[in-house]
Amino acid sequence: MKTLFTNAVVVTMNDCFDVFNKGYLLVEDGKISSVGPMEKCIDDFANMEVVDAEGGIMIPGFVNTHTHIGMIPFRGLGEDMKDRLNRFLFPLEKKQMTSSLAKASAKYAVAEMQLSGITTFFDMYYFEDDIAEAVSQMGERAVLAETIIENTIDSRQPYGGLMYAEKFIEKWAGKNNLITPSIAPHAPYSNTKDSLVKSKIIAEKYNVPYMIHLAEMDYEVALLREKYDVTPVEYMENIGFLSSDLVAAHCIYINERDAEILARYGVNVSHCVVANTKSGKGISPVKLMQEKGVSVGLGTDGPISGNTLDMFTVMKTVALAQKTFLHDRSAYTSREILKMATIDGARCLGIHESTGSLEPGKNADVTIVETQSINMYPMHDPYATVVYQTNAGNVQTVYVDGIKRVHNKNLCSHTVKKLRHELEDASIKFNEAASKM
Ligand SMILES: [Zn+2]
Repeated sequence: MKTLFTNAVVVTMNDCFDVFNKGYLLVEDGKISSVGPMEKCIDDFANMEVVDAEGGIMIPGFVNTHTHIGMIPFRGLGEDMKDRLNRFLFPLEKKQMTSSLAKASAKYAVAEMQLSGITTFFDMYYFEDDIAEAVSQMGERAVLAETIIENTIDSRQPYGGLMYAEKFIEKWAGKNNLITPSIAPHAPYSNTKDSLVKSKIIAEKYNVPYMIHLAEMDYEVALLREKYDVTPVEYMENIGFLSSDLVAAHCIYINERDAEILARYGVNVSHCVVANTKSGKGISPVKLMQEKGVSVGLGTDGPISGNTLDMFTVMKTVALAQKTFLHDRSAYTSREILKMATIDGARCLGIHESTGSLEPGKNADVTIVETQSINMYPMHDPYATVVYQTNAGNVQTVYVDGIKRVHNKNLCSHTVKKLRHELEDASIKFNEAASKM
């Protein structure tokens, strides 16, 4: 099976940052076989699907390094409240979240991500076995991590997520080439040392990436300072939790020594700027971490924290926040921002050899944004156009692993209407309870 994309502004995100202003990309059996200027494109189109990009911008599918796709029902709830997590989210989640609701939410969330050009994501939630079913039905590339916390909502025993996670990883390892099962202890302040260490042992045993929320909360910093006189990163180092398979989400409270520790262990950071700033927590010192050698990808965080599951909102906010933070309008070029949203994100997940850029041999994870809408003119620099002008509504075409998932701004194998009906049906009790809070 061959697919040939023609007449695209191809932004490869390879090491040389090659851009072909009028380019093509050929896909064979799900993998990119060649990419280049139209002059070098084959002219025998027999036995292949030809997709004319009509001058649209072709970029690698985005890699969303941190989200919680079971949480669509929470979106827009309790906005502008103090300590929403403990006062609002945890109680509602404990009483109302079910496997069927998480599954319906996951399908809806994946649809939203595909429609905005995200082809890979790293999830952290409960009921990941059901979520994996949903993701496999939607045909998206994902690392799916079962959350470990004292009282999980999908297991009765304290820290029962550990047992759930191990069973889940055993069940899904090697089952679906797009899905990597994984484990994610919630945070240093909400997990015991024992549960953190056990989580890492499970990740090591099955050789899978693992995730945690780290250095995100002011009370997390205060607690660890008071108890052990350390920073969150120092604490994680002391208990032997850090490794290059770890993706640490947020990392707001990071000093120079913390950044050095993260770099020494090869820890990857998911920068969730919208969640960090919307909650008033602060601006993560991304430049400091990158200068020390830490890989930093971008994350939408869950739909309650970041509201939209699209990387355009995230990329633009990263640029605005970092330029302001550094008092430098030349800081973080559009190319650097797009790099974080694609190949650097893939590096965080350990899959940069197979996705994250448009290069021969890689999986065909491809996004095309059209350039005909009113906000898309003029285009002086495709990187700047993608980072500052484009929104999710401009995403025209998306392929995941060589399979067409979005065509003419619509899902190919599902309809938003049906996914929404399924989610609405599953949300009735949840919405009733939420309205009384
Ligand atoms: Zn999170």
